[in-house]
Amino acid sequence: MPDAPRTTAGRRPLISGNWKMNLNHFEATALLDKLRYLVSKDDLAAVEVSVHPPFTDVRTVQTFLESEKVDIALGAQNCHWEDSGAFTGEVSPGFLAKLNVRYVIVGHSERRELFGDTDEWVSAKLKAVLKHAMVPILCVGETLDEREAGSTGAKVTGQVRAGLDGVSAEQVGAMVIAYEPIWAIGTGRTATTEDAQSVCASIRATVADVAGADAAAGVRIQYGGSVKASNAAELMAQPDVDGALVGGASLDAESFAKIVQFPLGGA
Ligand code: PEP
Repeated sequence: MPDAPRTTAGRRPLISGNWKMNLNHFEATALLDKLRYLVSKDDLAAVEVSVHPPFTDVRTVQTFLESEKVDIALGAQNCHWEDSGAFTGEVSPGFLAKLNVRYVIVGHSERRELFGDTDEWVSAKLKAVLKHAMVPILCVGETLDEREAGSTGAKVTGQVRAGLDGVSAEQVGAMVIAYEPIWAIGTGRTATTEDAQSVCASIRATVADVAGADAAAGVRIQYGGSVKASNAAELMAQPDVDGALVGGASLDAESFAKIVQFPLGGA
């Protein structure tokens, strides 16, 4: 068995499955039922895992994970920044906390690009997640045009600074940032390991600048964008990559299990 991978601050890497608008609550239960037999206690001791089902599945997934004692954290894909009120169709962070949700994705590029989530909204959502003692996964990343124009650094740094504005150093050190180049999401194109490492390192440097060295060492930085069993181990071996946010490959129990088992070398 290889040595357990550890992040800069000695924490477990975090592999998160973002199911997006896929899997109804029956399908969710079926996937988790397979997954729990595929990943062992040792796998889950080495790597932390979260799943982010659609809102309609959250209660079912909570009940399944808790009653079956599966050591996988419950996540959500988004939330509103207010606790309650006249916000038709929105979901309160307080309601998610009541369901023992631990991780909440904020600022996913699909929210930013398709549903108009601005840096200001993302910052408000992030603070709301923290207020309810959950952990935000702040997504940042550039479009292909921005990458080709050489503005990846400026875009990502701007999103990180906006997202962390008004958040304490201690809170920053306990949260997660996901670097997801938009051109790599759901396209089958993955950033090279060098590109992923270099942007994740610049994110950590920005965190150090904003919140200090301890926060920069503590924050977990995930890479996301067409992560699969075949590329997970190499990406996770990069010093500033502390986990992965996985879309498509998290919808299949076998491929997600192999990503979780990246310390074994992948497929
Ligand atoms: C995502 O949903 O955040 C994502 C990275 O998707 P995929 O793995 O399918 O590219």
